[in-house]
Amino acid sequence: MIVADRKPIEDIKEMLTPYKKILMVGCGTCVSVCMAGGEKEVGVLASELRMIDKMENKNWEITETTIQRQCEREYIEPLEEKFKEADIVLSMACGVGVQYMVEVFPEKIVLPALNTTFYGTTVSEGEWEERCAGCGECVLHLTLGVCPVARCSKGLYNGPCGGTDMGKCEVSKELDCAWYLIHNRMKDLGKIEMMGTFIKPRSWKQSLNGGPRKRVREDLKK
Ligand code: SF4
Ligand code: SF4
Repeated sequence: MIVADRKPIEDIKEMLTPYKKILMVGCGTCVSVCMAGGEKEVGVLASELRMIDKMENKNWEITETTIQRQCEREYIEPLEEKFKEADIVLSMACGVGVQYMVEVFPEKIVLPALNTTFYGTTVSEGEWEERCAGCGECVLHLTLGVCPVARCSKGLYNGPCGGTDMGKCEVSKELDCAWYLIHNRMKDLGKIEMMGTFIKPRSWKQSLNGGPRKRVREDLKK
């Protein structure tokens, strides 16, 4: 899932200050799971904003709604009337949701209430960790399921580097060294010889470095 954090309330307040009728739109998928922008978080932020409105006479009229996904047209289009009535839309989705709502309703300004951070997973209650950087050419078959791009601080294809220390990364003692994890998996699964296999340099054209990416499945096109 995509993991995000809510922006500080002061930043959101500043963005909304010039407007009166505010439509808040939550997203019921990834950001709901990471408790940043789902229905509950929309309610919490709306309450904070209403309190600010009272204390600072902002004159805000706040409407709340949450849709299943802000990255798909079929869920956004039913908001047409609500969009028309609003001066501004505050999205609580990831950056994809914000941009797609703008594409569906280009006449409106949509503000981001979240900072989108990474693709990750829930490792324990209230804790999420990055697992994939969407590099476009997956090498997990060569590293037995531990991503060297997202989980090694240097993105090394052939590690570890000289900074690895008792299983931790030199960048922080809080971080496991990805290559220590890869080594241990290879050892545990009886495939330690894979550590000696050189992973060839790749073309980064498939990554964001090659520009915005697009995927087309001709067999699914109408
Ligand atoms: S190698 Fe690339 S696609 Fe595979 S998990 Fe890592 S970042 Fe994601
Ligand atoms: S210590 Fe490990 S995770 Fe950190 S940069 Fe070096 S190889 Fe990568």
